[in-house]
Amino acid sequence: MEIFLNMKVFKFGGASIKDANSIRNMTDIVAEYPDDPLVIVVSAMGKTTNKLEQIFFKKLKDEDFKAGLDELTEYHSMIIKDLFREPTNIDLKPVNELFNDLESILGSNVKNRNGARLYDAVVSFGELLSSTIIGLYMQDRGMKISWIDARNLIKTDHTYREGNIDWETTGSLIKQSLTDKLPESDFITQGFIGSTKDGHTTTLGREGSDFTAAIFGASMDAESVTIWKDVPGILNADPKRFEKTQLYSNLSYQEAAEMTYYGASVIHPKTIKPLANKNISLLVKSFENPSLEGTEINKGDIHDLPPTYVIKDKQCLVSFGVKDLTFINEKNLSIIFHILDKLNIKINMMQNSAVSLTVCFDYREDKVSKLLDTLKNDFKILYNQDLQLITIKNYT
Ligand code: ASP
Ligand code: MG
Repeated sequence: MEIFLNMKVFKFGGASIKDANSIRNMTDIVAEYPDDPLVIVVSAMGKTTNKLEQIFFKKLKDEDFKAGLDELTEYHSMIIKDLFREPTNIDLKPVNELFNDLESILGSNVKNRNGARLYDAVVSFGELLSSTIIGLYMQDRGMKISWIDARNLIKTDHTYREGNIDWETTGSLIKQSLTDKLPESDFITQGFIGSTKDGHTTTLGREGSDFTAAIFGASMDAESVTIWKDVPGILNADPKRFEKTQLYSNLSYQEAAEMTYYGASVIHPKTIKPLANKNISLLVKSFENPSLEGTEINKGDIHDLPPTYVIKDKQCLVSFGVKDLTFINEKNLSIIFHILDKLNIKINMMQNSAVSLTVCFDYREDKVSKLLDTLKNDFKILYNQDLQLITIKNYT
C-alpha cells in the first residue's frame, strides 16, 4: 500500500465557513497546498447545528418547525447565491436533494421512532450541506476535489448522539476508499457524523468534528492534522474572557489532553488520543492569519508552561449527605458512583467530607432529575445550578 508522506488532514469549524467570504478564505488556504494530498473535514456552517437541534426539539414536541426550517434554507441559499458565479456550470442539484431529504425526515411520523436516532438523522444535515456546497464551490474554482460521505466510512455502535467508534472497521474502510484516489484528488467530508453497521446515521457528540479529523488522520497515518480556528493557536485562557492571553507554540499530547479534560474548548477532548497513539502532530492554526505558526502538539517534553485558566459554564453542584449521624463510607460512595455511571454523568470535580460527598458536573436537566429521584431516599441531597467551574493548571 502506498504511504503518503505529506498527506494532511485539515479541519474547518463552523466559524470558518459561516458565510461566503469565510468560505472563499478557507478555500484560499486549501489552495496554498497544491502538492499535498488533503482530506478536508468541515463542520456545519455557522450555528447551523444549534438551529437543527431547535427544529428537532420542535418536531419532537409536535410544534411547528417550519419557520426554523425556512430560515435555515434561506441562510444556505444566500451563501450559495454569493459563492457561485452566474451562470455557473456547476449542478447544484445535490444541495436541493439534501433539503428534500431533510424535509421528508421531518415529515415522517415521530411517534414510533427513537428520539435520539431521529436527532442524529436531523442534525447530520448541517455537515452534509456544508461539505456539499463547499465541495461544489471548490470544483467551480477548478480544484480537484471529491466529496465523500463520512457515514460510509466512520462506523459506530448504536449510541445515538455519542456514537462509539468501531476502530477496526473504520480504519480499514478509510484506507480502502482513500488510498488509491488521493494522488489524483483531494477529499472533502463531514465532521461529526458516522453510521451504525445497519446504516443508521449517528453523531459523535457536539463539537465532534475535530474528532473526525483525528479519526481520518490516524487511519491514514497522516503527516499532520490541522484544526483551523478563530484564535492564533492554543492560548492559556479564552481570549473572549481574558486579556493578555499567551500563546503556547508547543504542547505535549499529555498537557493538551489534560487541558481539554478541564474544559478548554479549543479542541474536542477525544481528538488527542488517536493522534498520540500514532505520533501524528496536531496543529492548531488561525484561519484569519494562516501564516502565523500556531500551536503544535506532539510528544515533546515541554516544561515551565505559563498557567492555563479554564472556565466551564453551566455547572451544577450536588451534595449527598448521610441521613443519620454516621460518617460517609465506601458503601455510600459506591452507591452514588454506581448511579452516576449508569446515568453517564461525568464528574468534573469532587470533594468528600466526614458526612457528605459533593460532585460537580455539566448540568443536564434530565440527568439531574433522574439522579435526585434515584438517591433521595438514601441521602440528604443539596443541589445548586448555574455555576462556573474555574480551573487553574500549572499554577504559580
Ligand atoms: N456541527 C457540530 C456541532 O456544532 C460539530 C462540530 O462543529 O464540531 O456540534
Ligand atoms: Mg464547531
